[in-house]
Amino acid sequence: MNEAKTAVVIGAGFGGLALAIRLQASGVQTTLLEKRDKPGGRAYVYEDQGFVFDAGPTVITDPSALEELFAVAGKRMADYVDMLPVAPFYRLCWEDGSQFDYVNDQEALDRQIHARNPADVQGYRKFLAYSKAVFEEGYVKLGAVPFLSFRDMIQAGPALAKLQAWRSVYSLVSRFIQDEHLRQAFSFHSLLVGGNPFATSSIYTLIHALERRWGVWFPRGGTGALVKALVRLFEDIGGRIELNAPVARIETQGARASGVLLEDGRRFAADAVASNADVMHTYAALLGQHPRGVAQAKSLGKKRFSNSLFVLYFGLDHHHEQLQHHTVCFGPRYQGLIDEIFTGDKLADDFSLYLHAPCVTDPSLAPPGCGSHYVLAPVPHLGNAPIDWDVEGPRYRDRIFDYLERRYMPGLRSQLVTSRIFTPFDFRDELNAHVGSAFSLEPILTQSAWFRPHNRDGELANLYLVGAGTHPGAGVPGVIGSAKATAGVMLEGGLA
Ligand SMILES: Cc1cc2nc3c(=O)[nH]c(=O)nc-3n(C[C@H](O)[C@H](O)[C@H](O)COP(=O)(O)OP(=O)(O)OC[C@H]3O[C@@H](n4cnc5c(N)ncnc54)[C@H](O)[C@@H]3O)c2cc1C
Repeated sequence: MNEAKTAVVIGAGFGGLALAIRLQASGVQTTLLEKRDKPGGRAYVYEDQGFVFDAGPTVITDPSALEELFAVAGKRMADYVDMLPVAPFYRLCWEDGSQFDYVNDQEALDRQIHARNPADVQGYRKFLAYSKAVFEEGYVKLGAVPFLSFRDMIQAGPALAKLQAWRSVYSLVSRFIQDEHLRQAFSFHSLLVGGNPFATSSIYTLIHALERRWGVWFPRGGTGALVKALVRLFEDIGGRIELNAPVARIETQGARASGVLLEDGRRFAADAVASNADVMHTYAALLGQHPRGVAQAKSLGKKRFSNSLFVLYFGLDHHHEQLQHHTVCFGPRYQGLIDEIFTGDKLADDFSLYLHAPCVTDPSLAPPGCGSHYVLAPVPHLGNAPIDWDVEGPRYRDRIFDYLERRYMPGLRSQLVTSRIFTPFDFRDELNAHVGSAFSLEPILTQSAWFRPHNRDGELANLYLVGAGTHPGAGVPGVIGSAKATAGVMLEGGLA
């Protein structure tokens, strides 16, 4: 049925790539149009003087969702990319000098939990059981379901109510666990997908069960190697990708999308158009000439968007052996800082950091004996805090370098070979992200599932969305799931 059909996908993030692969594998001739000079979106790659820096996602979970993409295309992931296990999953560090290695070994977890608070060993077991139940309901059953009608939401309602989805992640964790450090250790995960642990639905505790079930992985050669593998897969099955191809407009004829117009004047006609670009950018800029675009942009403007990030990439002529691959460096405050990040109008004086040291797993990402790194700090988005990042960025970089040198990486400054920063301005300008949000719409209950922009537009029957702004939301497994949901709707409807 679909042999002669064509589709255009705007944006080559993980969501756009996964959707393009699914469509192409189903016989839809698919063209992927990416604004930047490299694919990957938030998973872009910088290279400098032999250092390779993955720009964004580094904690790769649920490899089965990735394997499925290769399988639907009749290939094997192992022939395209080598996935390496990461252990510990993360090292969590606090300013009082204590640390917790979050591992997939129950005994080692129990030992560490017991050392902090013996009662929490039992509490953790209950939390894990809860997290597994949410995982089954929220990820296995609903993770790739397109919530197109409110009926779908009502059907999911009883299970969500039973799981107390109205509670926040932190409140749920606190029901089971008493020690404050451990509460932080088991509640910070929602921050990885732009969710405030004090406001985001406890459904997001499923990330814990997901990591325990499938582990944490890192592609050999970095996340960029996984992006390259997906592009190669797409091309191997006949897909076409154009880089440096910013779309200026989604063209319409009546209540249908007829194709896209590029900024350079080229036109691509298609039977269906899917956008992996930021949802606000899609409606306000790409569909701004159509009443539907205007109305949707107005409605999106009233929603809450996730925080932004300040990311600092740096290469050292030294390998810091004391580091683990992933380190979370908790600052002096938890809830107070998170409140300021999500609702404050300025930069807080303190910060909590995530530090990436990929050479621990794969030394090939830097010249011999050297280390490539990035460190990120969650910061308010530009809609809440109109900070001039051209001025503040270099200052913030210096504060973070001082902090890391003092507490985690002695000698850092003298070992520095190269560095670059990515600020909320870059999220806005490079990625077209509304208010510079790093994760699109904030994943609160009233902006999740049916309440999130749908995988198919409500008026233009052959216009689709994929990626962090749609169900189920941000994170690599999330956007890969959204691609499955969107592809399902497109193919079932004969692209509509
Ligand atoms: C620093 C950072 C670290 C992260 N770490 C993790 C992690 O460890 N694990 C995890 O699971 N998730 C992580 N995430 C979240 C995850 O990276 C994202 O949620 C996910 O990659 C978003 O994918 P997406 O499909 O929505 O598309 P995006 O990556 O947002 O890509 C959208 C693409 O659309 C393109 N585009 C925009 N406008 C146009 C236009 N007009 N024309 C053509 N192209 C256009 C953009 O250039 C971009 O390439 C992280 C995010 C960041 C920012």
